[in-house]
Amino acid sequence: MNGSTSTPTPTPTVVEVTVCDNYINGEYIPSSTNEYLDVLNPTNSKIIGKVAISNSKDVNHAVQIAKNAFHDESSSGNNGWSKKYTIKQRAACMMKLHSLIEKNALKLAQLIVLENGKNITEALADVAKGNETIEWACSLPSLACGNNLKVSSQVSCEDRRDPLGVVVSIVPFNFPFMVPMWTVPIALVMGNTVILKPSEKVPLTMNYTCQLMKEAGVPPGVFNVIHGTKECVECLIDHPDTKAITFVGSSPVAKIVSYRCRSLELQPPKRCTALGGAKNHLIALGDCDFDTASSDITVSFAGCAGQRCMAASVLLLVDDDDDDNNDNNNIDTSRLQVLVNQIVDKSSKIEAGNQPGQMGPVIDEVSYRKIISYIEHSEQNCDATILLDGRSWSNKSHGKEDGGGGNLWIGPTIILHSNKDDKTMSEEVFGPVLSIFSVPTWEDAIEIENKNPFGNAASIYTSVGGNAEWFTSRFRSSMLGINIGIPVPREPFSFGGLYGTRSKYGDMDITGDGAMEFFSNRVKVTSKWPIVRNGKRGPSSSSRK
Ligand code: NAD
Repeated sequence: MNGSTSTPTPTPTVVEVTVCDNYINGEYIPSSTNEYLDVLNPTNSKIIGKVAISNSKDVNHAVQIAKNAFHDESSSGNNGWSKKYTIKQRAACMMKLHSLIEKNALKLAQLIVLENGKNITEALADVAKGNETIEWACSLPSLACGNNLKVSSQVSCEDRRDPLGVVVSIVPFNFPFMVPMWTVPIALVMGNTVILKPSEKVPLTMNYTCQLMKEAGVPPGVFNVIHGTKECVECLIDHPDTKAITFVGSSPVAKIVSYRCRSLELQPPKRCTALGGAKNHLIALGDCDFDTASSDITVSFAGCAGQRCMAASVLLLVDDDDDDNNDNNNIDTSRLQVLVNQIVDKSSKIEAGNQPGQMGPVIDEVSYRKIISYIEHSEQNCDATILLDGRSWSNKSHGKEDGGGGNLWIGPTIILHSNKDDKTMSEEVFGPVLSIFSVPTWEDAIEIENKNPFGNAASIYTSVGGNAEWFTSRFRSSMLGINIGIPVPREPFSFGGLYGTRSKYGDMDITGDGAMEFFSNRVKVTSKWPIVRNGKRGPSSSSRK
């Protein structure tokens, strides 16, 4: 079975197996290796799909097709996606895609639940957020028009944005729809052709999206999907005809990808932006609204089972108005104890499952073991107190009813730390775990946030505007929030952490005007036109007497 699910609206309990072959030149085709990896439903560990493993032969084929589709050199020179289609026509395809996504949002969301394990509300949000970037890409004909300036009496300068050619997008498992759509629609409207490499853990959503691209009128070869792992990614980077690479995923791989794109062996070096992991800090002052903050923080750390690069990881409590406040993390005497109690209470009410308000499993066994090991480390080696222990969920029967494995469930976990050097406080856990630590002063809180090796997001909870401003002007991260747990900048603002930290290896943001810049070459035309009248050459048309 190529490229289609055997059931039109699969739900998390459906066990039909979808074969995800590459999508090249508008067709689903098996990889040349004929090898597949199993795709598992994390809810019950049952096999729901097979995903192709591609090698250099497949990559060469995909790149050649995408290159032809970009600009068919053999024809009049006015052919292909970058020339035959105007930017308005390319945007019109994305408008059609936008309405097809709206129409099929439930089906896409059900695929996300099936392969990623999110609850259905979170999955629908994944789709809606991705569609917001498509919507923004539709406005590029206005936003991407260049500048024109008469720079002297005879000379004019104009700049315009030309597409790059074949561009590559490599994406992670945690947002099967939204993250691919951060780059694909913008790259396409700017006139590039695209090869997308989905996460091998969640290939079904993009496998289906290919059909919607086709229905939206995206011509064959303009949008391609190639499946695989490390080898496939390396071939995509190394191929001389791929012009730019975007990557979103873990920090170690982001670093590898970014260095490979700039390696001396690769001539010329490749344009690359690579977003990595995160360790987001929230700071709560004693004057914040506890009801709102506790709900917000709970959703931030436990939503999507904590598998969001914008999830809250560390909550720093600072109540310097409280005479009894102490810095040894007993927090009992602080007003903020009420906030902590509320977070524990709200988190303890979250149930396991894929329905609205429930929390799904984590993605796989490797993730599960890693998360558990951080909790154990804090408890056994760093004298931490586990205020809420999600490990108890391992006894639950979720996913096991119909004979599945169902061993990937970890409930919301809240750790009260007494040692700020505990690695759980500084490394990315990527699960539903909140670290809480009390500090005596604002400066101490800022120091912890500033020193963490990531630079993705940070938030301050306070009722006082001036206090909020004090923190937002000192945070090191580059996506900041005030009284909001997940400070995702919405379009048209661009998304991306701080360059030079483990959150970003590459100098552009991945959406918004950063992406418009990333996916285009600025061409500058300087012109001086003489007037030729009655056979006589006169002054430049720009000069006026
Ligand atoms: P990952 O790094 O394991 O995989 C990401 C992609 O890289 C996948 O397509 C995978 O096939 C490929 N890949 C894996 N190992 C590779 C290697 N050695 N060489 C080349 N390619 C390789 O990430 P993941 O586990 O899928 O996603 C979770 C991570 O992504 C978390 O760290 C999370 O913080 C991060 N993330 C960051 C952002 C952001 O905006 N900064 C957004 C979403 C997710």
